[in-house]
Amino acid sequence: MTVYLVGAGPGDPGLLTVRAAELLASAEVVVHDRLTPAELRDLAPATAELVDVGKHPGGPADAQTRINELLVELGRTGRRVVRLKGGDPFVFARGAEEAMALAEAGIDFEVVPGVTSAVAAPSSAGIPVTLRGHSAWVTVVTGHEDPAKGEPEVDWEAMGALGGTLVVLMGVKRWPEISARLVAGGRDPQTPAAAVRWGSRPEQQTLRGTLGSLDLSDVRPPATVVVGEVAAVDLNWFESRPLFGRTVVVTRTAEQAGELSGRLRRLGAQVLEVPTIAVTEPADGGAALRDAVARVADYEWVVLTSPNGARRFCAELRDGRDLAGVRLAAIGPGTADVLAEHHLVCDLVPERFVAEGLLEVFPAPSGRNTVLLARAEVARDVLPEGLAAAGWDVDVVTAYRTQPAQVTPETAEQVAAADAITFTSSSTVTNFVATGAPVPPVVAAIGPVTAATAQEAGLTVTVEAGVHTLDGLVDALVRHFAR
Ligand code: SAH
Repeated sequence: MTVYLVGAGPGDPGLLTVRAAELLASAEVVVHDRLTPAELRDLAPATAELVDVGKHPGGPADAQTRINELLVELGRTGRRVVRLKGGDPFVFARGAEEAMALAEAGIDFEVVPGVTSAVAAPSSAGIPVTLRGHSAWVTVVTGHEDPAKGEPEVDWEAMGALGGTLVVLMGVKRWPEISARLVAGGRDPQTPAAAVRWGSRPEQQTLRGTLGSLDLSDVRPPATVVVGEVAAVDLNWFESRPLFGRTVVVTRTAEQAGELSGRLRRLGAQVLEVPTIAVTEPADGGAALRDAVARVADYEWVVLTSPNGARRFCAELRDGRDLAGVRLAAIGPGTADVLAEHHLVCDLVPERFVAEGLLEVFPAPSGRNTVLLARAEVARDVLPEGLAAAGWDVDVVTAYRTQPAQVTPETAEQVAAADAITFTSSSTVTNFVATGAPVPPVVAAIGPVTAATAQEAGLTVTVEAGVHTLDGLVDALVRHFAR
């Protein structure tokens, strides 16, 4: 089996390579470092084993040997192993040592290059590492020298005499010594210098100054330092996006959060997903649904009353042709949309998206009189009772359960520090308030009904979308923060 040494890029999941995303999505084991952002780990299947081999500064010196041994061991199990490394695996990342260990043990490996922070962190800060007429070469150097690693010592005075652009990785802690030695080597203390912390991430910070003045004593790693004329260039785009620097809480379920979170992130926001409802397997693990879907051709109608139910139903469907003689009803457009994603067109969607609305338009039985109703564990009885009263033989199967999600004290603390919270329905409000978590200063509601529920729950609604869609909500937030 092959072990994949994969570059994760500087931190923005959008800066993964296509190959890296593909391998992560099919990984069985992901071996990652301490600073690997959670969003990257989340790209692996939920069933994948995550192994944190993060070396803590000051940890045991043989940590790398143990990582090498672990990769060899995992490689032998025949599972799909992804060794995820920040930036590029061969740029100050000891990927080469891991590859050598694998080669020695006779285990195949593949290296997936990554976008290195040496280039990406500066460019996210609007600093080009080369610039025609100003800088024709770039030197990338490590500021972390550990004699135990057997690395040759960096001749900082020689670097100081070199000119061009100097990019220093892992140099924050030793910056006073490094900058002094660069100056001693001949670099002008007036040379522009900048430090970019967490480049490409929503928490990115850029500090600018000169070689002589840049003070990094309050900067925690990871940060990349750029020295050279280019460090004075400020082609700002990243940090000037409208929601940059804002943390926004998204309260939709984990399945539904993605769309809103994506829009907010593209505008620069740090998104904190706090699902207030969790959708889980029913008590029987889905056996009843699986069974019913296996003989779905026996039913005259399949009735789906929520997007979650529709999703679960489609997941169990083996072959779309099993539905050849079966008609489909959805309670509303959201549920119908899920079916449409699976190339299933509904025969019936009522005008009022509630059980009563569906009953009003549901036809009388003719021929086969069986209905499969796949829905949440806890639901009103209006629909099965009404259909039965109309002469239908109704099989009610539980497709999923919803449970109020727990908010851990750690998450509650993050919510308290956020700038805004978004509510996309009354139920997100009610469920969020029930968790007892603190409320950020800006409360944004998708429309008047949601806003009213929030107000009734004692929240002060700051932002209400004019157009009651996700786009409308995002627009309203952007306008609020622009003021
Ligand atoms: N293989 C990595 C570098 C690993 S060394 C790469 O190619 O990017 C770790 C150092 O990289 C950090 O100390 C910091 O200097 C730099 N670094 C990594 N991610 C960064 C980021 N998002 N922003 C700024 N610097 C980063």
